[in-house]
Amino acid sequence: MNWKEVCPYNPKLNLKDTYIYDTTLRDGEQTPGVCFTEEQKLNIARKLDELGIKQIEAGFPAVSKKEREIVKKIANEGLNADVLALSRALKDDIDKAPSCDVDGIITFIATSPLHLKYKLHKSIEEVEEMGMKAVEYAKDHGLFVAFSAEDATRTPIEDLIRIHKNAEEHGADRVHIADTTGCGTPQSINYICSELSKNLKKAHIGVHCHNDFGLAVANSLGAVEGGAQQIHCTINGLGERAGNASLEEAVMSLKMIYGIETSIKTEKLTEISNLVSKLTGIKTQPNKAVVGENSFAHESGIHAHGVLAHALTYEPIPPEIVGQKRKIILGKHTGTHAIQSKLKELGFEVGENISDEQFKEIINRIKDIGDKGKMITDADVIAIVEDITKRTVKSERIVNLEQIAVMTGNKVIPTASVALIINNERYITSKVGVGPVDAALKAIQSIIGEKIKIKEYHINAITGGTDALAEVIVKLEGYGKEITTKAANEDIVRASVEAIIDGINKIME
Ligand code: MN
Repeated sequence: MNWKEVCPYNPKLNLKDTYIYDTTLRDGEQTPGVCFTEEQKLNIARKLDELGIKQIEAGFPAVSKKEREIVKKIANEGLNADVLALSRALKDDIDKAPSCDVDGIITFIATSPLHLKYKLHKSIEEVEEMGMKAVEYAKDHGLFVAFSAEDATRTPIEDLIRIHKNAEEHGADRVHIADTTGCGTPQSINYICSELSKNLKKAHIGVHCHNDFGLAVANSLGAVEGGAQQIHCTINGLGERAGNASLEEAVMSLKMIYGIETSIKTEKLTEISNLVSKLTGIKTQPNKAVVGENSFAHESGIHAHGVLAHALTYEPIPPEIVGQKRKIILGKHTGTHAIQSKLKELGFEVGENISDEQFKEIINRIKDIGDKGKMITDADVIAIVEDITKRTVKSERIVNLEQIAVMTGNKVIPTASVALIINNERYITSKVGVGPVDAALKAIQSIIGEKIKIKEYHINAITGGTDALAEVIVKLEGYGKEITTKAANEDIVRASVEAIIDGINKIME
């Protein structure tokens, strides 16, 4: 049983040869605030090639000399993919593309009444003539040529049909319907593509959909149903304003819903998404389809139970085929069984290395963090378990913390007061430090004496946010021993003190 079989309303289309065109390096780079270095562009181009993209739009050579150098490097990188460059329908622009050694040129001009009147100040006839000259001129260079009608979805259908037929006659290998402002619908773009298909003899139709209404992928699929063979995409849906059709989503929709296999190696999707996110500094939203951190995460007890019984109950895409893993997330909705199975997975068994009492405390701590809306990671669970199992053997310890108070601020010297119980005797002291942690540790140190020294101190925020669980790792030395301990707490002073006291006990054991 597969998902397509259990979904009776999906289109039953006999489509093939649909392919993905990637414009991450051109439209994607037009994302506000994004500018790739040469090395980054080359790195992404290589990854796109490994992903199986057949055509990569590498840049816009007219932009700058540097852009031309980068496009040329990508074109000479020996990729399997064809490398294309964008040009306006201007002779000067087109002249710059072949010198970059590209395999093809996309030449574009706006055709909508709105763009003609306010941007170009030209008639549709003038624009058509410019476009045709550009196609012919680009074709004279012996390259693959695509003609793009910018703002096509706001252009009268008769103009689109005439211009695209004309472009085909002038040698265009492909025509692009650009939904420049993302205001088309799956039905309207389907209509445009169907009308064009009836009128074109051999030129393929490509669609370039923007995501202003969040419809870029849906519109691209509408175009495919109408006869388009190519979808313009960017990794993570990057691009101008709200971006372009997301490559990950388009590829997986084609594969899983339409049964269309593209050339894309889907298991590499998450890896390239993460790479592009890292290079652009634009974090992928957790609930992003296919590649988001939560795309295959289940928290509710009902979902976790269902998906463990049969993946298809709550997972339309097997996570492995997009390079992801299923995650059963612990949180406030989690049941005892899920926590128990998570503990087992992490090497803790209730009744063996965890007592029933400790297990109850672990559940409470997990739910406490869950109640604060935090995602609980494996590292959090390990930290909680270790913290609890360690603290409950407190009675056997030589050194115990009775109380700690710290004071800090911009007008006070950070001060800590500590009360320790050592072999049933109470020791109290106060110390100042550069900060509350320093003061607290100095106070403890002054009680313990110089025979035990703190050699190293590290702190990590395990989860994000100011209420993150802090993990402190310390290395202590004394009595011929060297001990590394760690403690986790939402309060960094308490985490630090717990780690140190744990270390002192281990040394004095
Ligand atoms: Mn665009």
